[in-house]
Amino acid sequence: MHVITLPKSTLMSMKQHYTHYLKANPPAHSLFCAVYQGTTITAYTSGKVLFQGKQADQEAALWQEALQKNAQSTTSLPPHFHSLSVIGSDEVGTGSYFGSLVVCSAFVPSHQLEDLKKLGVQDSKKLTDTRIQQLAKLLKERIPYHIIDVLPEKYNDVQPTMSQGQMKAELHNHALIHLLKKIAPQKPDAILIDQFEQPSTYYRHIQHKPIQIKENVYFATKGESHHLAVAAASIIARATFLDTLNTLSQQAGCLLPSGANSTVDEVAAQLIHHYGIEVLHKFAKYHFANTQKAIHLETRL
Ligand code: MN
Repeated sequence: MHVITLPKSTLMSMKQHYTHYLKANPPAHSLFCAVYQGTTITAYTSGKVLFQGKQADQEAALWQEALQKNAQSTTSLPPHFHSLSVIGSDEVGTGSYFGSLVVCSAFVPSHQLEDLKKLGVQDSKKLTDTRIQQLAKLLKERIPYHIIDVLPEKYNDVQPTMSQGQMKAELHNHALIHLLKKIAPQKPDAILIDQFEQPSTYYRHIQHKPIQIKENVYFATKGESHHLAVAAASIIARATFLDTLNTLSQQAGCLLPSGANSTVDEVAAQLIHHYGIEVLHKFAKYHFANTQKAIHLETRL
């Protein structure tokens, strides 16, 4: 028999994982009981999970490893992090063929947290584009921020000599320098960067920079779930990305979709057909595989 203690959130995904092996009558005070390949797994509301049977150790080890991996992906944040005065930093457009790469840092002092919550500031992935535009406008009136909007032309200039990770790290560092200047002499309790690479890699990417923001800097994936400042930064960045994509669409004379799917390839093929391959430098992230697909599609037009 093997006993481990797991957080509630893990217990729920466990139940999901064993959903086809659940026993109809779990013991009292248990959350579920499953029999999977000869191992009986009983999870209690306290967080204790019992593994019984020949494979008990192996089965338990799987869950313990998953838990450790999760813990490593987040630098441990100070207690009550969500109620501190925090600068959040996030980027948008890294996965979109058309349009710019936008990084935004935004400062949310603790006394404004309630106000922003009431406005409906939350994970930008849960918001429609229209709502994002509205919220970005309201946020810009209320909190200090700094946006860097890297247009495709500039992106394509730099990209051959620099990985996207390097580019993002430098942009976050740059945005943070500017925002810290704007709010001085005020200082945030902490800075939270929505994690896109290991912290050690991030610091290696900015090590040649004359100014490196390192004090009170934290990294977390799903940063917006840890502090509203990341959600705010993400909303402003997304709205900027959409605005710029709109402007580029007008210049291109057609609607440039975001993303990197096959619709994108077709639009790119049309652009090549009408204006030549060079036009993509102005509207798209040239190094994406979409360019080759579009060139191929264009030969059939
Ligand atoms: Mn992000």
